[in-house]
Amino acid sequence: MPAQSLDGKGLSERIIADLAVRVSARVTAGMTAPALAVILVGSDPASGIYVRNKRNACLKAGIHSILYDLPVTTTQAEVLALIGELNHNTGVHGILVQMPLPPQIDPTAVIERICPGKDVDGFHPYNIGRLAVRMPTLRSCTPYGVMRLLAMVHDDLKGMSAVVVGSSNHVGRPMGLELLLAGCTVTTCHRFTHNLDAFVAQADIVVVAVGKPELVKGAWIKPGATVVDVGINRMADGSLRGDVEFAAAGERAAWITPVPGGVGPMTVAMLLENTLLAAQLADAAIRVDLDC
Ligand code: NAP
Repeated sequence: MPAQSLDGKGLSERIIADLAVRVSARVTAGMTAPALAVILVGSDPASGIYVRNKRNACLKAGIHSILYDLPVTTTQAEVLALIGELNHNTGVHGILVQMPLPPQIDPTAVIERICPGKDVDGFHPYNIGRLAVRMPTLRSCTPYGVMRLLAMVHDDLKGMSAVVVGSSNHVGRPMGLELLLAGCTVTTCHRFTHNLDAFVAQADIVVVAVGKPELVKGAWIKPGATVVDVGINRMADGSLRGDVEFAAAGERAAWITPVPGGVGPMTVAMLLENTLLAAQLADAAIRVDLDC
């Protein structure tokens, strides 16, 4: 029987509608709306679209978004100085720097400059470290969104065999930590993994985040598995394709995410959740200062 679709778009819309209610209640109680500062450097068309989508979602949730649209020639020192100002601005609860950055700016330096309490992308080593020691606070948006999708179809993930394909800092690694936290037995596969097909074939849950169209073949999928495709690859004809052979995988899996309409909208919804959480932490004076 063909797999059922894990509908990230629908779930993200419900999450954003619920956020709107919670933000509105907060404002009615006399508190400020959460505020997200978005820094965009340069004019990469895809980045422009991502930033627009995130700002539109903020609008729907009642979250205030402030755009810093900087020229491609902006220096690293200028970006770090702006983040420093935003770190100390109590009217800003979350800071997002859209990746990729122009080559003169080191993304690691940028991520580390954001105060961990305002790191709503969940990329700062402090926040990834908290996830590693089972004390998650601001969680990396894409893996957190995947967990919410999995929760829609699995009451309990404990004891399940999960394979993550891809081991980037922003997706693959925190994804493995999330699944471990949920009680899965986790294997992370990467560029140097031998016999990738054999690992995928024994997995109850497969999450793929590589950025190579249809790297994971449908025939590798264990019958009845849940398949989450994080990959977004733009093809020569302009269409989008995931990292999994969708139709063939759908013949074997029980659940599969579409591309687009699966993980992407969930990433945006989790960004908004993190922004509200960052505002709540600031209200409660639970501040994560470190070296901000
Ligand atoms: P990335 O930083 O380029 O990382 C890709 C990872 O895949 C790396 O760990 C890389 O290994 C590994 N890899 C490369 N070739 C492989 C192979 N043959 N077998 C197994 N692993 C291999 O990319 P990313 O940021 O994690 O993103 C991955 C994909 O997800 C991209 O298509 C991106 O556009 C998409 N994405 C989607 C969302 C969303 O919201 N839907 C969010 C983020 C990313 P090395 O570390 O050794 O290079």
